[in-house]
Amino acid sequence: MFAKKNRPSLSSSLDVQSNIEDEDFILRKRIRDNSPIDDRLDGDSESLNLASDEEEDIPGCPLPSTPEDNELLEAEMTEVLKAGVLSDEIDLGALAHNAAEQAEVFVRKVWEASWKVVHFKNLPKWLQDNDYLHRGHRPPLASFGACFKSIFRLHTETGNIWTHLLGCIMFIGATIYFLLRPAWQINLEEKMIFLSFFIGAIVCLGFSFAFHTVSCHSEMIGKLFSKLDYCGIALLIMGSFVPWLYYGFYCHYQPKIIYLTIVIVLGFFSIVTSLWDKFSTPQLRPVRASVFMAFGLSGVIPAIHYVYMEGWFNEISRSSLGWLVLMGLLYILGALFYALRIPERWFPGKFDLWGQSHQIFHVLVIVAALVHYHGISEMAMHRVSLGECDIKHTAIVL
Ligand SMILES: [Zn+2]
Repeated sequence: MFAKKNRPSLSSSLDVQSNIEDEDFILRKRIRDNSPIDDRLDGDSESLNLASDEEEDIPGCPLPSTPEDNELLEAEMTEVLKAGVLSDEIDLGALAHNAAEQAEVFVRKVWEASWKVVHFKNLPKWLQDNDYLHRGHRPPLASFGACFKSIFRLHTETGNIWTHLLGCIMFIGATIYFLLRPAWQINLEEKMIFLSFFIGAIVCLGFSFAFHTVSCHSEMIGKLFSKLDYCGIALLIMGSFVPWLYYGFYCHYQPKIIYLTIVIVLGFFSIVTSLWDKFSTPQLRPVRASVFMAFGLSGVIPAIHYVYMEGWFNEISRSSLGWLVLMGLLYILGALFYALRIPERWFPGKFDLWGQSHQIFHVLVIVAALVHYHGISEMAMHRVSLGECDIKHTAIVL
């Protein structure tokens, strides 16, 4: 490359190879300089940066670009190619194949870095979910790298992604803090009971974050992760019941086991329903909200039982039930926002990026989980203050 003008004869195949590489570089440089892609990406600084990054990746230094040099190089290139083809040293088929592959990789990289948000009507059918959100949708991004990079771009899913990503990180932190408490403060059995709630919350928020991040990858991945998202909700409800039933029926072994069994069966039913292909379609949005709401509301039965056992106007039952009722109301409110798509149904196209129903639902889920954590912590403290059971493992006849 540095001694082009003093290039020796073309007899050596090594030289032919070196020349071809040089010409290939010139060609690629020219293609980039005159690329129609640049027109498409006009004004997009990100893609321009990528183009310059690509340039830095290519070894060697820039060639002189005077017209005389270009003419000379073109003439030499023709000679080189002729000699190569005639001597069978260049496989044109392989060259064409390589060039096509390189071009494909390049275009894909540019596309991934330079995609622009699209209108709802321009989305493929499998990405059309909420028609009250007009602009700002991600187009299909057929690579996980591009999906995860989209976390840092502004579109209809940005709020959904970040609400549950931050919520997930917060609960991971709370779990580590809780598990590291010394044993004299919280014993191992209680840590395991609380852990079921923490795992439910982390899995639910984590799956939700993952779903909203990769939902635009492809129809297959979108469906798979939406199923995981629903399974996460079922796990959160199950995990929330465990500590509540454990402390609520601390000294009443039989009802505790019966209620826990019912919760596990209902949770299993919700997960199986979530795995049903049609469950994630927009038409079944109210059905989805109803299934999880019914599962959550099934907690009313053990709650009434608990109050009957503890006494209706007992301070303890009022306090622990108060938090439980507040949690239930927050979940119901969230499910209503989600199912009815409020507020965007009243102002279509006005809540495309911020304030849409799904973001409100996400925030309410996090607040409800925090309220529940506070509620079960109070129940646990109350239980500790009471000491051991008077009559351990008493069965209550239902
Ligand atoms: Zn969500």
